[in-house]
Amino acid sequence: MKNQMELIFDAVSQNEAFARVTAGAFFSQLNPTLEEISDLKTAVSEAVTNAIIHGYEDETKQVELTCDQNGQQLVVTVEDHGVGIEDLEQALQPFFTTKPELERSGMGFSFMEAFMDRIEVRSKKGEGTRVVMWKYIERDSEK
Ligand code: ATP
Ligand code: MG
Repeated sequence: MKNQMELIFDAVSQNEAFARVTAGAFFSQLNPTLEEISDLKTAVSEAVTNAIIHGYEDETKQVELTCDQNGQQLVVTVEDHGVGIEDLEQALQPFFTTKPELERSGMGFSFMEAFMDRIEVRSKKGEGTRVVMWKYIERDSEK
């Protein structure tokens, strides 16, 4: 089965929970395990939080969340049109953060990589950032 949804919301911190819960509800239709859904929600939360906190510095614009299902294969895209990432290789390193004063630990991308099967980040300074994440949901034979 194929299914797709797109959500566009303001880059404000209250919308992090909204995005996480909405992605979780959308993918729950596939009967994932609690662990799979929890992993997905964590990854969505990290990507959306990054768009909100790092993407837009002094202005509030919008974040686009796309959830795609193709059979058991899920694809999540989180995109902002904000400041972009200057050095992507460095940003992807565990513990690297440009906002230590906000008590950021620099583990967001590492969590996305750990909780999803694969992630791909594209970013251009001044244009924004797009994170694409893939996860394969095991088919539950009892359902
Ligand atoms: P944590 O996620 O642990 O709270 P963090 O957000 O700093 O800390 P990562 O999520 O791994 O850590 O991101 C690493 C760095 O990449 C950020 O500090 C920031 O400089 C940059 N970054 C990440 N996402 C974006 C984005 N959407 N726009 C601009 N810069 C970003
Ligand atoms: Mg982060």
